[in-house]
Amino acid sequence: MEPVDTVIIGAGVVGLALARSLSADRSVIVLEQEHQPGSHLSSRNSEVIHAGLYYPPGSLKARLCLAGSDALYRYCETTGVPYRQCGKLLVAQKGEETRLQQLHDNAAAVGAPALKPLARREWQQQEPWLNASEVLLSPGSGIIDSHALLYQLQQDAESNGAVVALHHRVEKLQCETDRYMLRVHASDHQRFTLRCRQLILATGLFTTRLLENAAGFPAEQIPQQRLARGNYFALDGRSPTRRLVYPMPEAHGLGIHLTVDMAGQARFGPDVEWIEPTLPPDYRLDVERKATFVEAIQQYWPDLNPDRLQPGYSGIRPKLFRQGEAVTDFLIQDVGSHGLSGMINLLGIESPGLTAALAIADEVKGRLG
Ligand SMILES: Cc1cc2nc3c(=O)[nH]c(=O)nc-3n(C[C@H](O)[C@H](O)[C@H](O)COP(=O)(O)OP(=O)(O)OC[C@H]3O[C@@H](n4cnc5c(N)ncnc54)[C@H](O)[C@@H]3O)c2cc1C
Repeated sequence: MEPVDTVIIGAGVVGLALARSLSADRSVIVLEQEHQPGSHLSSRNSEVIHAGLYYPPGSLKARLCLAGSDALYRYCETTGVPYRQCGKLLVAQKGEETRLQQLHDNAAAVGAPALKPLARREWQQQEPWLNASEVLLSPGSGIIDSHALLYQLQQDAESNGAVVALHHRVEKLQCETDRYMLRVHASDHQRFTLRCRQLILATGLFTTRLLENAAGFPAEQIPQQRLARGNYFALDGRSPTRRLVYPMPEAHGLGIHLTVDMAGQARFGPDVEWIEPTLPPDYRLDVERKATFVEAIQQYWPDLNPDRLQPGYSGIRPKLFRQGEAVTDFLIQDVGSHGLSGMINLLGIESPGLTAALAIADEVKGRLG
């Protein structure tokens, strides 16, 4: 088979954003192991367009979240992907006021849209169900229909001539300095080899595993990965609010928050549950965690009736570590790190990866040249 310019492995939101962008000036094939795009991280998240409040100044997460959210709002406007810039309330309980101030200062330092302190009278009038000591409004935060986004990105890529091949799993890679050979297992149980000059691993939870099976890739460049499942519970009946409500963040997560989807349905989560890696990934929801959810939610919504919480779904975060230390930023590997020209690996693309997808695509395009 003739070599193609660029192969992207993975048709999640990042792979499809890349396909849309790169197919404007080169031939692109996207290989996806599942029967539909976005079956993993991209369809198992909170669907929030983040405003970049939490990430350290200078980090990739901060830069790509801010650029990504601007680009995403514009993209939704021009394409009709449903979204709503509904705003988000950051809620501190007694004793957490300093942490709220730190979030405020961090948001200012990264250049996020300014957080607005709300007077007690104001938020009590607007959200009479809410319990808090202090509240900040993030007007830049919003929600999006992630499935419509995936569909639109795929349409754009395909109308540029990109091919999105579903049910095509890359089993093995062979890396030479500037070309790549992929062993592909197709849906009809056929196996074939594909050659390309540029290769992008937008493989979410599976990137470290794929690199471990890549001949010619320097093993010392592969970080360790651990998996943190996030469980969600849905609220039966009417949501108390149309906005997002976030408590103070916790280690490895943003706290059990309230989000609403485009249909107005409220859900709570995700929490943080460390799990063992399995194939396929273990998305079973741990219903035993309901009591912990009730306790966390009743901090900011004391009148929650626990009977209204129903098991929802779960997503899994890829968390990176090096020598036991957490790597908290996105990791985008290029020739500068692994020495292989034309190869880009995307690792640790957890939240805010949905928000940042269009900006990640620009970043990768810039690095590929
Ligand atoms: C619980 C949770 C909540 C989140 N909430 C938010 C949020 O509110 N806002 C936000 O901005 N971000 C959020 N995120 C992050 C966001 O969902 C991800 O960053 C984003 O979806 C990552 O997309 P991706 O394309 O990298 O990965 P994926 O969507 O997982 O795509 C990777 C694709 O690669 C395919 N693949 C893997 N290996 C192979 C192979 N060998 N051959 C062929 N195909 C392969 C997989 O099948 C998969 O489809 C959240 C994440 C989680 C887990």
